[in-house]
Formats: sequence, structure tokens, C-alpha cells
Amino acid sequence: VRARPAVVACAVAALALFPASAGTGAPAQERTTSDRPDDVSGPQVHVLYVIPRDGEDRGLDTSGTISRTVDSWQTWLRRQTGGRILRADTFRGALDVSFFRLAASDADVAARGQYVREQLEAELYAAGYTSAGKMYAVYYDGSSTWSCGGADPEPAVRGNFSALYLKGAPPGAPPCASNRLGLDPPGYLEFAMLHELVHSLGFVPRCAPHARGDYEAGHVSDSPFDLMWSGSEPWRTDRPDEMQLDVGRDDYYAHGRSGCPDLASSPYLVDAPEVPAPPAEPGRVEVVSFTTSRAATPGRVFRATLTLNQAVGRATCRATLNGRALRAATSVQSRSARCSWALPRSATGRLRGNVAATTSLGSASRSFSARVSRR
Ligand SMILES: [Zn+2]
Repeated sequence: VRARPAVVACAVAALALFPASAGTGAPAQERTTSDRPDDVSGPQVHVLYVIPRDGEDRGLDTSGTISRTVDSWQTWLRRQTGGRILRADTFRGALDVSFFRLAASDADVAARGQYVREQLEAELYAAGYTSAGKMYAVYYDGSSTWSCGGADPEPAVRGNFSALYLKGAPPGAPPCASNRLGLDPPGYLEFAMLHELVHSLGFVPRCAPHARGDYEAGHVSDSPFDLMWSGSEPWRTDRPDEMQLDVGRDDYYAHGRSGCPDLASSPYLVDAPEVPAPPAEPGRVEVVSFTTSRAATPGRVFRATLTLNQAVGRATCRATLNGRALRAATSVQSRSARCSWALPRSATGRLRGNVAATTSLGSASRSFSARVSRR
């Protein structure tokens, strides 16, 4: 991840990746060359698949690859935020991905150097992608000699466009295409798009305690596991389970300081819809998902949610900190048992717990163990 003079926002450089397989099973989708009617109103992210005039059409919009990559970073975000995601533009319930072929050739666009994103923005804006209530997330299937992506340094000026350059070849870094698109758990390209979108929302501001200055403005300096990190060490997207949205929660998300912008207050961030459960099978209770807070941090709330394929009647939440029981807040919401525990400020050691949910057909439970760390 690197930035340069003249752009406030960063340009993401490629990282070596650890091979992993992309998910499968996403249904084929119809191609559309427009932004179709929105399912919901309000600020939202509209996704585009863009190729240069002479570029190969790999059909990433119709194959489900783009839907998968968006689902993957949204799922990560949802876990980090305890249930919130960026509101996505959908059409009849599925991600609304528009296809666009540029008038410019791959070479024309790449010749813009650090301004590839600006070239995309100019053409898309002229084509009518101008909604003030939308951020545009562009998967550009073309090259760049500069980076693997870029964000909008001045989103209020003309549209709000973030982009990944899927065939970029940044100097001194692996080709962007060495990273698979559509990985779950998320890989480099999933984190990179979310990173660019968070930039385009105006983060990280200079008032953040770990904000970098000068050429790396917009980033934090405290950990290479942070979504918005930049620095000389590699960005640790190769360890997706350890990546975090604002390490320490003190710079840009839920930091609780007044007078400094907080991503938690962004109108683009909304409660994710409940995970749709599969139809109930008579006589069987199945676990649909079990999620917990990513980190157990002293002085913060740790959450665990168990979702079944049946309506939950009763939930039981238990947790111990170094063997001593902690008081739980317990709730039932449709097919989910939700538990939370406020960790004492002085908490250290290991948090162990269990969430049990009882339905009319039986019960299910899952347990967890997390090291309490101050990070
Ligand atoms: Zn950046």
C-alpha cells in the first residue's frame, strides 16, 4: 500500500499472495449496462465491471466472481463491526453489477500513470454514473503501471469512484493478477477494495492518533494487520483472520472521540440483513453460523451469535475469564441466540465460553476460546 504526492488517497500496490482457491457455486447473472432500479434507498455502493476498449471480457460480472468478492469483504466487515456492512446497491435481491466498456484502450488508460482511476471516473461520470448518493466500486479489468487500485481523493467534487486495477503491474511488486479475486476468507484484492472504499469515505483523517502524514496520509501506522495500514512492512492480508478494522479502535472506527470523524457514523454503514436460514427440515436442528467478535479486548464488549435453521426459543450464554464466570447479556432474535459480555478493563488471560440455543426440535451449542489482548 503506498501513496504519492498529489493524491491524498492511496494507491494500493500488489503483495505476494498465498495460493488459495476461489469459492464456487455463485449463480450466473445477467449482464446489464446500466444501473438498474434500486431495491432500497439511501447511500449505497454501486459496483461496476469495466474493461478497456480492446480488453478481454472475462465476464467477471456474469460469472458471479464480482458478487463473491463483494460478499467476502462484506462478511469480513460484518464480523469486524458486529453486524454492519456497507449498503450495497441490489436489484431484486442480488448485487447490481453494471458492465461498462471504455472508449479508451488499455494502453491509453495505463498511460495516465497514477491517474488511471481519474480516467475511469471521467468516462463513467460522462456515461451517467453521477448519483450523489452512491459510491462507485470499480473492478477494472485493465492495466496500470502504478498500482493495483486507487481511491477518490475528493469524493465530493465529481462522483465518488474507488477502483481496483486487476491487471496492474506496479513497479517492484508482484502483478496484481497474481492475487485471485473472489477469495473467502478474503484475500489481498478483497481487503484492497474495502481499503479504497474506506479512503473514499474520507478515512483515515489526520486527527487520528496513528494517522500517517505526508505521502502516506490516509493511513495508519500502528499495525500491518490494520485495513488502513501503510508502511514499509508487508500488509498482512495473507492472514485474513488476524486483519482488523482499526486495531485498538482508536483511529477511525468506533473510537469514541468527539471532533474526529468516525466510520461508525457513516451513512453508508448499515445493519446487515439477518442471514437467511435454509428452510427448516422436520426433526433436525442445524447450525447455520457461529460468529464471535474478532478480538477480546479489555474494557470492550465481546459478542457471540449462534444462528440455527429453526426458530430459537431460549438462549444460554456462558463465559469465563481465567476460570471465573462473567455476567452475560442474552437475547433471542428469530433463529439466533445472541450473547455479549463486557470485559473488565483489567481483563487478561483467556476468555472461554459457550452459546447454546434451544428450539422446539432440540438444541445446539458452540463454544469459543479467545486470548484477551490489549493490542
Ligand atoms: Zn491506502
